[in-house]
Amino acid sequence: MLSRKFLPASLEKIELRQKSGTIVLRGIGASPGLICGLALIHYERLGQVTAQRIQSKQISSETARLNKAISKSKKGIEELRREARKSVGADLSKIFDAQMMILEDEEFISRIKQSITANLYNVEYAFQQEVSKTIRALSKSRDVYIREMVSDINSVAARLLHNLSGIDHGSQHRSKTPLIGFASIFSPDEIMNMRKSNIVGFVTENGGPTSHMVLIAKALGIPAVVGVKDCLDNVKAAQRITLDGSAGEVVIAPEPEEWEAFRKRVAAEKRKDRRRFAAIGKLPSRTLDGHDVEVLANLEIPTSFDQKLADEGIGVGLYRTEFLYLKSSDFPDEEEQFEVYSNIVKQFNPLPVTLRTFDLGGDKFTEHFKNEGEANPALGWRSIRFSLDVPKVFRTQLRAMLRASAFGNVRIMFPMICCLDQIVRVKRTFASVKRNLRRDRIPFNDNIPLGIMVEIPSAVMIAHRLALEVDFFSIGTNDLTQYTLAVDRGNAKVARWYRQFHPAVLHFIERTIKAGHESSIPTNICGELAGDARATRLLVGLGVDSLSTSPRSLHAIKEIISQINYREAKEFANEILHMYSAMDIEKLLTDDYNRHFVRPVKGR
Ligand code: PEP
Ligand code: MG
Repeated sequence: MLSRKFLPASLEKIELRQKSGTIVLRGIGASPGLICGLALIHYERLGQVTAQRIQSKQISSETARLNKAISKSKKGIEELRREARKSVGADLSKIFDAQMMILEDEEFISRIKQSITANLYNVEYAFQQEVSKTIRALSKSRDVYIREMVSDINSVAARLLHNLSGIDHGSQHRSKTPLIGFASIFSPDEIMNMRKSNIVGFVTENGGPTSHMVLIAKALGIPAVVGVKDCLDNVKAAQRITLDGSAGEVVIAPEPEEWEAFRKRVAAEKRKDRRRFAAIGKLPSRTLDGHDVEVLANLEIPTSFDQKLADEGIGVGLYRTEFLYLKSSDFPDEEEQFEVYSNIVKQFNPLPVTLRTFDLGGDKFTEHFKNEGEANPALGWRSIRFSLDVPKVFRTQLRAMLRASAFGNVRIMFPMICCLDQIVRVKRTFASVKRNLRRDRIPFNDNIPLGIMVEIPSAVMIAHRLALEVDFFSIGTNDLTQYTLAVDRGNAKVARWYRQFHPAVLHFIERTIKAGHESSIPTNICGELAGDARATRLLVGLGVDSLSTSPRSLHAIKEIISQINYREAKEFANEILHMYSAMDIEKLLTDDYNRHFVRPVKGR
């Protein structure tokens, strides 16, 4: 681990209000929204537990906490053992016997109690110390069976630490206590399951603003602050938390008045959101001087929001199909895919639905698609490279998409295209899948528009040639920024160098749009930049034809388009293209946005 003095200054953002014990943490406001709840700590690694000294009079209560957590953990393991016996048979259910034995090991438990009494450590730390010692000893063994016990110990440890947190995990959804998750990082599928556990917001030490963890949080409307250094060392389970996902601020144990005021703000914000959403359809997607810029939605997983979008006349500019697979243990077959695609297509008909083929890899993986052994997964076997290498999966997906096209307005888009050969091969496969469908007399739309994501610099540089092959471009600014600046989009340590307003990124956007227009094809932007209201005037001025963004940003973006003048936006964009500092550009755009588009908020 890096010592504190080597960490970037911008990550040192902790403020302690000495008197009240309130701690204010700052990080990257990644998924907007205000939310409050009790802290739930996700102990995915034991190192997250911190040492706290207790007073002698607390020894008995700490020991009682340990006893209670042990009996609760045993109950949980017993339930699992029963379930396993039914579903996988008696032999495999023995895995849980090993876990039970650890909690029944009297010597082990008494060493933890001794550490609490002798060293006055909090129970979590005393427990973690003992577990680490045991793991270190076992890991040295030459016996595979003994080494395998480490994973049992790890899962028992995680269970016991959760139970020590005092929050009843089994009944979170019944207790209705909203929770704020804290972790070093969450996986995309953990985010997808948050609602079930009543986790209404989250805070992480790692992760960047366009990581896939964040994209799902946005899709589900879960506010999040990421890149909060040391958040796990500062928070204790079940403490009150307020979280501002726009400002990137997290308050631990706020004073009672602050907590009450924040709760009122949360309720007011929810009412405002509902009103805004109901008005989206009424706003024109046209500038004051009559220039049309279509506004579309990015969708990841079907939500109750989708029907509202369709009712408001908003089509889908990016449907990230890979998120269908995050939870499954194998690739879904053609029927399963057809069902999902055709449902969404029917729901939005006659509005367009842009289905993107698998973009797996990088930080998007499934149980059966782990990019193990790759030193640089973002540069590795991912996305269209995977699809072209595994034709069975690719053809099945294309077949399902083509079949869905008989029910509405489908567009198909291919991610991570970096060269002409890829698009030529993609089109060859597409034509062959069409031939098979014709042979099987299965209906589909023979004129589906095909597009590519422009998100790799090499594609930008040959965009004029690629434009001859496809019907539209869609710029993925999340990856385009990552690959242009060589900055990992999911790494909090380098997040300050991840700059979507970098002049190189803006010139690439301009170049792509121009290349598209020279061949009379439209260019959409579907990366997170499209949903950043500070960028709207600039992007319209660069000539973009449509902007596709997460549903929460739609209203703000449409509102700005309806208030600007295209002719002036072009001059504004031209001025910005002559600037060389990402920071200066960001400042100018932020000032411009605050001056022209932000109304003072009453009551704050
Ligand atoms: C992008 O890269 O900007 C994009 C929209 O695709 P994803 O975020 O899914 O990689
Ligand atoms: Mg991308």
